Amino acid sequence: MTDIIQLLPDHVANQIAAGEVVQRPASVVKELLENAIDAGAEDIKLIIKDAGKTLVQVIDNGKGMSVTDARLSFERHATSKIKSAEDLFQLNTKGFRGEALASIAAIAHVELKTKRPDDELGTAIEIEGSTVKSQEVTVTPTGTSVAVKNLFFNIPARRNFLKSDTVELRHITDEFHRVALAHPNIAFAFYHNGSELFNLPNENYRQRVVHIFGNKTNEKLVPVEEKTEVLKISGFVGKPEYSKKTRSEQFFFVNQRFIKSPYLNHAISAAFEGLLKDGYHPSYFLNLTVDPKTIDINIHPTKTEIKFDDEHTLYAILRSAVKHSLGQFNIAPVLDFEQQSSFDTPYSYKDKAGKAPTIEVDRSFNPFADEGSNSGNTSSKSTSARTSFKSAPAANWESLYVGLESKGNGRQEHDIEASFENNIKTETIFSDASVETSKTTFQLQQKYIVSTLKSGMLIIDQNRAHQRILYESFLKHITIKEATSQQLLFPLQLSFTPNEVNIISGLKEDLEHTGFVFSDVKEETITITGVPVGVPESEVSIILEQLISDVEHDVPDANFSATDLLAKSMAKSLAIKNGQSLNNTEQEHLVNSLFACKEPNISPTNRPTFITLSTDDIEKKFM
Ligand code: ADP
Ligand code: MG
Repeated sequence: MTDIIQLLPDHVANQIAAGEVVQRPASVVKELLENAIDAGAEDIKLIIKDAGKTLVQVIDNGKGMSVTDARLSFERHATSKIKSAEDLFQLNTKGFRGEALASIAAIAHVELKTKRPDDELGTAIEIEGSTVKSQEVTVTPTGTSVAVKNLFFNIPARRNFLKSDTVELRHITDEFHRVALAHPNIAFAFYHNGSELFNLPNENYRQRVVHIFGNKTNEKLVPVEEKTEVLKISGFVGKPEYSKKTRSEQFFFVNQRFIKSPYLNHAISAAFEGLLKDGYHPSYFLNLTVDPKTIDINIHPTKTEIKFDDEHTLYAILRSAVKHSLGQFNIAPVLDFEQQSSFDTPYSYKDKAGKAPTIEVDRSFNPFADEGSNSGNTSSKSTSARTSFKSAPAANWESLYVGLESKGNGRQEHDIEASFENNIKTETIFSDASVETSKTTFQLQQKYIVSTLKSGMLIIDQNRAHQRILYESFLKHITIKEATSQQLLFPLQLSFTPNEVNIISGLKEDLEHTGFVFSDVKEETITITGVPVGVPESEVSIILEQLISDVEHDVPDANFSATDLLAKSMAKSLAIKNGQSLNNTEQEHLVNSLFACKEPNISPTNRPTFITLSTDDIEKKFM
């Protein structure tokens, strides 16, 4: 028998990768604009023809490339932006995968011209479908120009898949808005078929917003400024009376990167509560700055998704900052900050001195208190999200635990209670073997659940673990087509764009199998009369928005399964967030439900849900 495995030739591999990076002309626009920004350009021009189908060109006055770099820039995984895997956690640049230019060159005709400031002459390279057609020395201004012509010339199916010029131009304009809003200190110009659509000078953020969205915008804007230890917010929200039926003016930037986050979007809606007419959405243009170490940018190039270490706190700070601004500008009628718990307001962060990294101990934790009395710092929102795994059956995996075998019957619990009473007098940090054995889990940084194993310890990522649990349970419900739903007291009306309504109606049947009941799905409104048991009404819009954004971003391919996507998306929306504290019972439920799953070790998006640390590993660290 001969061997049958062959390595794909580079140009084929590039074409496959290109399918992921480049979905439409707007993706090329995004990649090229981001490269120009990464190159330190102060002036960037975007020139397109026929909605990008014939030409997408970006000209910048950035640092340019050497002859060798110019050639290398088209190689896959060629990047000047990261050198090792560690750098991934400290990203300050937009690009980092070194895939964009190689991918684009695989499916288009590309002409590159580039020159560094100190060089006399520059380099010109022409590539067609990954093949270099020419390379020469040329006279060209400092900076880089990349012209991408005849996109998908060699993949007719993809070319036919493109929408009308109007639609493609709208996608390009959206990308342009996002990049231009994130960088008001860079001048941008944008031309389509020879006419100028935008000409934006270097300006401040307010001017940039007004230049893009029109002069009338100026009077609508309410500034939002907040600085806490974990998060800096700056930007604007629109006054409530200017809210819109669409979400076209909603922008979050995290460290100057545009992101979509239905969860944080909900924080803003919550701040506007009571101020908006039904079906209207607030405008916002908000820049969030966080330590790059505390976020995880989805490695997928086309996704505008991001994971925060502590979403729960960000939510609270954001809501409170927006509420505060609306109040200051006399927009919100009554604001009672005293009523909020200290956790909810950022002002407690303001006066706090810098804190050294510590292991957080939940002081209110009492393993022997009954469940209800132990939830002092959990919001009703989080409690309800959790109910969904409480009912999950405990798995038969207890053998993993040290000392757990003796637990789980009423009599035993009384014994422990008795011994606890005795211990109170002598309680010290280090003593108390009894407490140690009865408390089998604890929470670290409100993010990880730590538990003991016979052979060491187990560290579970609470968010990923819960996603896995919910994902499997949703999948089951959808496939066996039986779900219990809870009826809403009043029908819930949500408004969406016609396109978004289309997406939802495409998934209507599957959604009904999870427990949703729709009484009406039309043009721009969806009316819901029932939701899956355990899903609070306030989360419904987050779930549907997340779902729409997931469907819109999913790369269409053969493996696309609406059911799977729905289950993943709902699991993501409803899973316990990082930053959410869990009491001991909840922690144990989470651990047990995780190991009752079919595939406990990975999240629905294929990330590890837990790691183990053996006693050997620990011993080694003490050597
Ligand atoms: P990435 O941006 O992920 O590094 P790209 O394929 O987009 O990957 O670009 C590859 C490399 O080419 C970049 O790392 C950069 O060094 C160089 N490059 C691309 N565009 C420009 C530009 N406009 N100006 C200067 N260098 C550029
Ligand atoms: Mg790039």
